Amino acid sequence: MVLEIQKAAEEIAQRIGEEKVSTEKFHRMTYSRDWSPRNAKEAQLPDLVVVPSTTEEVAEVVKIAYKYRIPIVPFAGGTGMGGGVSPIKGGITIDTKGLNKILEIDKENLTVTTQVGITILALNQELEKHGLWWPHDPESKPASTVGAAISCDNDSTFGIKYGKLGDYLLNAVLVTGTGEILRVGHRKALCTSSGYKLHWLLIGAEGTLGIVTEATLKVFPKPQTRKVEAVVFKSISEAINALKRLLQAGLSIESAHINCKRRLGFYTHAYREKYKREPDIPEWAEALLFVSFNGDEEVVKFSHEYALKILEGCGGQKVKEKEIIDGWWTSKHTLKFEPFKQKWPDSQRRKKFGAADLGIPVGRIEEAYQKFLKIAEKNEMEVLGMCVYNERPNRISPSISFAVFVDDTDPDEVKRFYKYVEEMSKMAVDLEGTMSTYIGDGDRLGGFNEYEHGKALKYMKKIKEVFDPQNIMNPGKKFESCWITPRK
Ligand SMILES: Cc1cc2nc3c(=O)[nH]c(=O)nc-3n(C[C@H](O)[C@H](O)[C@H](O)COP(=O)(O)OP(=O)(O)OC[C@H]3O[C@@H](n4cnc5c(N)ncnc54)[C@H](O)[C@@H]3O)c2cc1C
Repeated sequence: MVLEIQKAAEEIAQRIGEEKVSTEKFHRMTYSRDWSPRNAKEAQLPDLVVVPSTTEEVAEVVKIAYKYRIPIVPFAGGTGMGGGVSPIKGGITIDTKGLNKILEIDKENLTVTTQVGITILALNQELEKHGLWWPHDPESKPASTVGAAISCDNDSTFGIKYGKLGDYLLNAVLVTGTGEILRVGHRKALCTSSGYKLHWLLIGAEGTLGIVTEATLKVFPKPQTRKVEAVVFKSISEAINALKRLLQAGLSIESAHINCKRRLGFYTHAYREKYKREPDIPEWAEALLFVSFNGDEEVVKFSHEYALKILEGCGGQKVKEKEIIDGWWTSKHTLKFEPFKQKWPDSQRRKKFGAADLGIPVGRIEEAYQKFLKIAEKNEMEVLGMCVYNERPNRISPSISFAVFVDDTDPDEVKRFYKYVEEMSKMAVDLEGTMSTYIGDGDRLGGFNEYEHGKALKYMKKIKEVFDPQNIMNPGKKFESCWITPRK
């Protein structure tokens, strides 16, 4: 361990307590990576792991890191898919899960103020006791935190009704790269025209501007009931047009996910395996739409029946097997491996899920899908399939997962995967879309995201300098890629 790290470890232990600091190798190893495909042999470890439990303790750690110019990597649940937590330049990993206290539940104003290391599931378990709900709901909620949701701007199952982090975040506390504590945002007001919206700058910042320690979020009364439905269509465009009709009719849709034929194949495969009979899905089915409605029982009943009429009128056929609908729902709400085993053919258990997460304008999804198949084939990646999520309220706003299987014990396959991500990302920009909608730049897109941002990238780097003058906050992320360009 270099001298600066040793000194920093001692000073941090003095300020926040020895029990919150670790240099043990076995401990540091658990902070070497997230769920992004990468070869285990190339993993880098942090030099030091600290687990602060207050904003002030985080500030103390950052001040010491600033003094010795040591990199800091914020770590939450470690389920990210872009390499955001990889300590590619070593340094101090701050495990944010020590910041897990809820500070205030304001039932009257429908807000919660919380330390952000709490998992989304734990936050909702507490809110439920008050009849409230934070509907931001990624599949990874048992492990992933509020702070990571802010920092990645990740997707929620219920985005088409409630939106993304920009729709929830009212204010936040940030520890900047100098160790200064900053409150940004507009308290409990739902909108503002005053100042710059610095709290929005933290959304998707991936820890490169500082560490978010607290946040005030908009919450909702928990709806009474829910109804989930699945309908197949002859094409992806037909499914999209049907969804457009639902919105045009004025229905309030809670979730709407469109799966391609390959993804549909996982559900029918799981059904066949489990029940030993063929599901009644027509051969012509090219797209599978899962849709749900929530609210009062009567409203849900009406919405569901009316929606079904529209969907069938648009060429859709209702999926009769309740087990397929339940299988999808379960897979969205548990991190246990079971749904994946059911969803993915047995031969693929060994391989990991790897995705290009693209934002594509709605009229060009079919085109993007065809290009996806070609780019995957060119890079010799086995296609898992496409799923179109919708993430802005009352809109078709495609956030698309173009997924492939990756064997990350094979370094050549990992390399081809990141080449695939680069080509897919550039394709999204060519189609007037964006390179990432829920994973973030991480350590994957930085080598080529100028293709999307052009000169604006220079301004982004300047903004980082304001918050983090010594470039110690998650260095190597957003503006570099350790896969495409050589490590610096
Ligand atoms: C099985 C599975 C299902 C998933 N489902 C979804 C899904 O439905 N929707 C979706 O969008 N994603 C999904 N993901 C991806 C992933 O869960 C999300 O990106 C999630 O936001 C990561 O949360 P985490 O707590 O694990 O963050 P981590 O991986 O620990 O960190 C993510 C990034 O945030 C930064 N960070 C974390 N906390 C802070 C903080 N307090 N301040 C500053 N920076 C911080 C980290 O440095 C890193 O750059 C899934 C992943 C898995 C493995």
